[in-house]
Amino acid sequence: MRLARRIERLGTETAFSVLAKAKALEAEGREIIHLEIGEPDFDTPGHIVEAGCKALRDGHTHYTPTAGIPELREAIADDVARSRGIDVVPEQVVITPGGKPIMFFTILALVDEGDEVLLPNPAFPIYESMVNFVGAKPVFVPLRQEHGFRFDLEEFRAGLSERTRLVILNSPANPTGGVLTADDIAGLAAILHEYPNVYVLSDEIYSRLLFTGDFASIASEPGLGPDGRTIILDGFSKTYAMTGWRLGYGVMSVPLAEEVAKLQVNSNSCTSAATQHAGLAALEGPQDAVEGMLAEFTARRDLIVAGLNELPGIECITPQGAFYAFPRITETGHTADDLADLLLDEAGVACLSGTAFGRYGEGHLRLSYANSRENIGLALGRMGEVLLHVVG
Ligand code: PLP
Repeated sequence: MRLARRIERLGTETAFSVLAKAKALEAEGREIIHLEIGEPDFDTPGHIVEAGCKALRDGHTHYTPTAGIPELREAIADDVARSRGIDVVPEQVVITPGGKPIMFFTILALVDEGDEVLLPNPAFPIYESMVNFVGAKPVFVPLRQEHGFRFDLEEFRAGLSERTRLVILNSPANPTGGVLTADDIAGLAAILHEYPNVYVLSDEIYSRLLFTGDFASIASEPGLGPDGRTIILDGFSKTYAMTGWRLGYGVMSVPLAEEVAKLQVNSNSCTSAATQHAGLAALEGPQDAVEGMLAEFTARRDLIVAGLNELPGIECITPQGAFYAFPRITETGHTADDLADLLLDEAGVACLSGTAFGRYGEGHLRLSYANSRENIGLALGRMGEVLLHVVG
């Protein structure tokens, strides 16, 4: 088969291939604990499910306007305006099937071949995949454990050049659980003001999964709002445990929103009508389920971090957001890929090598704690047995 050359540049998300390998082991009768996939294990809150079902029964079974139904665009505009302390109009909102298409569409819309894109490393692998896909050059800013997996602002500045077209931020972060502080955001804004032609894609999909303090968004900085050069990516998958519904959005300048909507009309036409009605219920309904999930994630985080630090050769700092632990494993004497394989094969614990998120992820594993406390406890016990043998 002869494929277009650009397809060779497209990457993937290892979480899905590790999940497939773990499922194959389960089919052989092995019992696997899943700490690899990044989705809440909770079911979608009942009132949201009800709203989706009611929408179908009420006949919302047709195409919707490309950028989304007006009432959800308005609710999202209000929510983003309130949470980020900025002005947002519904015309700036494009609703998509999950937040992921916003990466795809904005990179396609803004980045030309030969442009540079500054992005964190380790990071969500689709950023790098898409930058390569469009023929641009990814420039990586390392995130290190010593610095709480936050940017070193001098390294960030050094990565920018007159060729930089786009900067990608992600806080709270996958895979590290790191969070940019208000000071970090102010520092980044000061640097970005020196580069007025650079766009910012701020992936804020974990903004409600923050364990302490207030969420700080680059979009709240004067001159960097989504009416100008920042694109906010957010969605419902993580906050409302709605991964399978596929519902996310971007907030950006009106002219860019029109181009992004054009990309959507060329690909998937619109987001499912019933899903959008469910999203409206999520935003307008009670938020206690979100708070309940956050409290449970906090307890699991404390459990997994304490347990990991007891294991030989493992050192884990406390994640400040999202639902991932990113322990350093160099003292085990294994590479991250080898250790992830070993833990799956010998301990029946599925997790991801840090290298699935880029080269600066070497020496780390990513464990998703979107699993029950009981399973996390079991996984830690089994990992301990295997590590005792290999580390001594
Ligand atoms: N951004 C980050 C950092 C993620 O980890 C994910 C999902 O894992 C997404 C965006 C996309 O989520 P969705 O397309 O389900 O909204």
